[in-house]
Amino acid sequence: MHPNDPRLRSFVEVGSSSHFPIQNLPYGVFSTPATPARRIGVAIGDFVLDLSVLEQERLLHPAPSPSIFSQTTINDFMSLGPHTWSEVRMRISELLRHDCGELRDNEKLRARALLPRDSVTLHLPLEVKGFTDFYSSKEHATNVGTMFRDKDNPLLPNWLHIPIGYNGRASTVVVSGTPIRRPLGQIKPPTSHDPVFGPCRRMDFELEMGVVVGQPSTMGEMLSEVEADALIFGFTLLNDWSARDIQQWEYVPLGPFQAKAFATSISPWIVTREALEPFRVQGPAQDPTPLPYLRQRGLNNYDINLDVALRSAEMRTAERISRTNFKYMYWSSIQQLVHHASSGCSLSVGDLMGSGTISGPEKHQRGSLLELSWGGAEPLELGSVPRTFLEDGDSVTITGYCQGDGYRVGFGEVEGTITRALGDSTSLAGGQ
Ligand code: CA
Repeated sequence: MHPNDPRLRSFVEVGSSSHFPIQNLPYGVFSTPATPARRIGVAIGDFVLDLSVLEQERLLHPAPSPSIFSQTTINDFMSLGPHTWSEVRMRISELLRHDCGELRDNEKLRARALLPRDSVTLHLPLEVKGFTDFYSSKEHATNVGTMFRDKDNPLLPNWLHIPIGYNGRASTVVVSGTPIRRPLGQIKPPTSHDPVFGPCRRMDFELEMGVVVGQPSTMGEMLSEVEADALIFGFTLLNDWSARDIQQWEYVPLGPFQAKAFATSISPWIVTREALEPFRVQGPAQDPTPLPYLRQRGLNNYDINLDVALRSAEMRTAERISRTNFKYMYWSSIQQLVHHASSGCSLSVGDLMGSGTISGPEKHQRGSLLELSWGGAEPLELGSVPRTFLEDGDSVTITGYCQGDGYRVGFGEVEGTITRALGDSTSLAGGQ
């Protein structure tokens, strides 16, 4: 049976609302108190399957050298290519099936290879070679354009022709759970003639998905739709933290710089492109028709339910503040990759591409506080306290999953908590 077959069952018990059934098998990097060396595993139900153990036992052999899954990142595994990705996923699926005895009936091996997920520490799963962030939600770009430019002409003339993007920082991509220090920067308050340097006062999140590039492309060459698709290893949840006041002062003429450079958080599990195949959908109609090199034939969007929850230091439980879907994106990930390579720019194993903030057509589907609070003018009620931007101690959690028939292929979550700015001993107000 194909590893995506909805009828597959594992001997590991998996509830119907778990993000990690046998149809998923996302890759992550973990360590345990007993064995602090980082290694590669897949999530299954409430467990992590230690692939380095299976490789040592020769139950998996993706490469001639027997240590691909003892690496501290998945980059070397990704470099083996799509054929190996599929073969390995098929074999892991087989080893976890309810009717396969190789692992199920080997108690000693099971004890070494299947570890309770709450007993492991998850790390950044890949070495991020480059980080590019796009701006591909029409609803998000329209909302931002309406607030900052012209409500009658919110989209710039290029937006409907180019998947707009900028080169971000790979050095500050961090895994879920990493605290996020409020950035310092230049800010020009609207009432002041001169800028000041200090802590960001309009701290925001951005709900995004990240594409993980698993194969290189050649400098000087373009990519077709099919070639771009084949380079994609998988997807993560991504929070592109944003300092709106720093952004507003610095972004003309070259786009965001320090407002986005201080941190980007990703979820620890990379869900493979193959596991997402059953959830491909048609994207929105594109009008005007894109230039020939950007035209697409395939179903290149994905039906992924996305949620954002916020919890302040005083709140006991988080409150959901946004619920949307990845399928609304105007430009697909494939169009982003095709455009990125179109100048002759090469892509590398370990490149990360942010989708851009994912907002849907409804108000509750907006993917940032900038939009949810309409630039601070319409505060949210959070635990009955009005809220515009993020305050110190606020925790933001993004979750996402695809709904199958009786099972979910999920991403887990990406969480980050805001800590106070460097050198700032006072409590900061979030709004202005
Ligand atoms: Ca962004």
